[in-house]
Amino acid sequence: MIEFSDVKKTYPDGTEALKDFSLRINEGELVTLIGPSGCGKTTTMKMVNRLIEPTEGTIYINGTNINDYNIHELRWNIGYVLQQIALFPHMNIGENIAVVPEMKKWKRREIRKRSEELLDMVGLDPSTYLHRRPSELSGGEQQRVGVIRALAADPDIILMDEPFSALDPISREQLQHDIKKLHQEIRKTIVFVTHDIDEALALGDKVCLMKEGHINQVDTPQQLVLNP
Ligand code: ADP
Ligand code: ADP
Repeated sequence: MIEFSDVKKTYPDGTEALKDFSLRINEGELVTLIGPSGCGKTTTMKMVNRLIEPTEGTIYINGTNINDYNIHELRWNIGYVLQQIALFPHMNIGENIAVVPEMKKWKRREIRKRSEELLDMVGLDPSTYLHRRPSELSGGEQQRVGVIRALAADPDIILMDEPFSALDPISREQLQHDIKKLHQEIRKTIVFVTHDIDEALALGDKVCLMKEGHINQVDTPQQLVLNP
């Protein structure tokens, strides 16, 4: 469970990125944050794993103030998928997926099994893909690997910041389908940022509409469509 309680963020140059942001995200829920560029979506995400500090207010994970966690444990427990594909180019796909599980001292066999299961879930044949370098994958395939790499060490929370924005429409559709399926199988808490309303409605259990550092509306996709 993630809770933002009266969070404000003012950057040193005076930009008020978030003005009184409160939101509760239940365990296992997939919440989409949607709003125009500059409304504070990325700022919100970066605060969850303490890449930036709120100016005011508190963020809780499972009832504990995030400042009270050991920062490494906090970050190990949060998978982050960025807009830019960020695989390590000198490592093959298997090695890329293994980075965080290795830090957590998982056994080789466990890492291998987990990598194969995850690749299968997104339709990439492990016997082929584990050994390829990122440069031997298409953009959509790389981003699918980016997604499963974030899930590899079994984090409780996954943050996805416009992970599809650099992709063509067909790859986007495939990835939307993959994320839905992965979420149904693993039931982890996912916060998904997008500026595409169709994507937000298609993916979210709950959709959070943001504007200028505020939340305008939070509702299920069904309710949002009925009462726009
Ligand atoms: P979004 O992800 O919705 O596009 P951001 O959270 O990136 O929005 O940005 C919110 C606002 O804060 C924007 O006006 C942006 O220009 C500003 N901003 C983001 N990062 C910084 C920073 N490091 N310093 C100053 N202003 C920033
Ligand atoms: P896109 O249609 O997204 O441009 P590509 O043409 O890059 O995709 O790749 C198409 C397919 O060929 C993908 O399945 C990709 O994994 C595979 N592929 C691309 N480069 C190589 C390579 N050097 N060796 C093996 N397979 C590759």
